[in-house]
Amino acid sequence: MNIDTSNAVRLSQYFLPTLKETPQEAQIVSHRYMLRAGMVRQASAGIYSWLPLGFRVLKKIEQIVREEQNRSGAQELLMPTIQSADLWRQSGRYDDYGKEMLRIQDRHDRDMLYGPTNEELITEIFAASVRSYRDLPQNLYHIQWKFRDEVRPRFGVMRGREFYMKDAYSFDLDAEAGRVAYNKMFVAYLRTYARMGLKAVPMRAETGPIGGDMSHEFIILADTGESEVFCHQELLDYDILGENVDFGSAETIQGYVDRWTSLYAATDEMHDPSRFEAEVPEDKRVSARGIEVGHIFFFGDKYSKPLGAVVTNSEGQEVPVQMGSYGVGVSRLVGGVIEACHDDDGIVWPEAVAPFKVGLINLRVGDEACDKACADIYAKLAENETEVMYDDRDERAGVKFSDMDLIGLPWQLIVGPRGLKNGVVEVKNRKTGERDEMSLDAALSRIAG
Ligand code: ATP
Ligand code: MG
Repeated sequence: MNIDTSNAVRLSQYFLPTLKETPQEAQIVSHRYMLRAGMVRQASAGIYSWLPLGFRVLKKIEQIVREEQNRSGAQELLMPTIQSADLWRQSGRYDDYGKEMLRIQDRHDRDMLYGPTNEELITEIFAASVRSYRDLPQNLYHIQWKFRDEVRPRFGVMRGREFYMKDAYSFDLDAEAGRVAYNKMFVAYLRTYARMGLKAVPMRAETGPIGGDMSHEFIILADTGESEVFCHQELLDYDILGENVDFGSAETIQGYVDRWTSLYAATDEMHDPSRFEAEVPEDKRVSARGIEVGHIFFFGDKYSKPLGAVVTNSEGQEVPVQMGSYGVGVSRLVGGVIEACHDDDGIVWPEAVAPFKVGLINLRVGDEACDKACADIYAKLAENETEVMYDDRDERAGVKFSDMDLIGLPWQLIVGPRGLKNGVVEVKNRKTGERDEMSLDAALSRIAG
């Protein structure tokens, strides 16, 4: 039988450099737990290596983002990290971007840069081949590393210099069609975060010079968040996953957007205290701190005009395309999920993004019955493609329990000599803390359910 060894691992052989001590430099809980659980290692300020455990979570988050982008009709491509400065000169952003942009020269002294975002490059790609309104709409995205030389990289992966982002770009003939594209992303984002077990609230955000209402930041509430935010409490109870969203119907999609934007929600830049008080009853006013995990933005012809992305419309006139851009902070989300889902003992992964579903704990390695029972369970889980981390280390029970709680897998299956004598193992739900003894078969079906 073929077992995918990356989905079934033995801790004795797994590369998991956990830390006993709380690292001094880590100021917030997600950063502390990520370092302690051996998920990442800092390479230099704001730049991280993703170790096996952290990498699995990053990939799971990335995959959810991808599936929801695809579901909404966006198409994936991949642009490079290194870009030529020329396009940025055309848009005027080469100078505007300032010190956050990492500028590089190649051996021929040509100006290059490590992309902080991709509006210019995608617009050039689009402009090179699309000429007619018949080829619209288009929404293209990629998931790629970005570099921004932040003044103050901090909080681990939450504000890195190198970070992983999904960025999508929509191209439409007019503003009305642009709104349809914007709305689709809006709803795709609601689904994306909800699938990760997060309550992300879309909040009105700065639109810049073009104004309008088409800029939202998606914010998860957390005391350690960098933004101050204000919203109506009931937004936190809205549930998109219960809806059977039809992305083919512009009207239905508009309906969801209307529903989610009808209640007050704004970041501090857009906050209007008198409106907040007038629109939201006192007992429903949430003022809190939040983490920006995504940002969607419609900006019309800001880039299409200078970069010459024009199409002919049905009357044969050339018009610049209307664009929007849509970002998700994929690597920031790894920290963001932990900020939202943890307790004093460690991380409490929502199942959809957990690095493994089950932690199998052998309390007495070397005991024949325990070793055999664990080997059986491990094989069964692997066969069922249930992701499992087997703690087969020769360690004290206390160490195993605290490591497993720290790592935060949704289920723990605890196998000890005493239980086995009575034909039972223990199942612990990491989130509720509930522990139950039951037969092995019952345990396996509990976990599968
Ligand atoms: P911020 O206000 O947090 O600096 P931004 O508005 O500059 O972010 P966008 O350009 O909107 O960011 O990027 C899209 C998403 O990328 C953000 O919503 C955020 O989740 C993520 N992101 C931005 N900067 C960073 C960073 N330095 N480290 C990690 N993730 C980031
Ligand atoms: Mg933003």
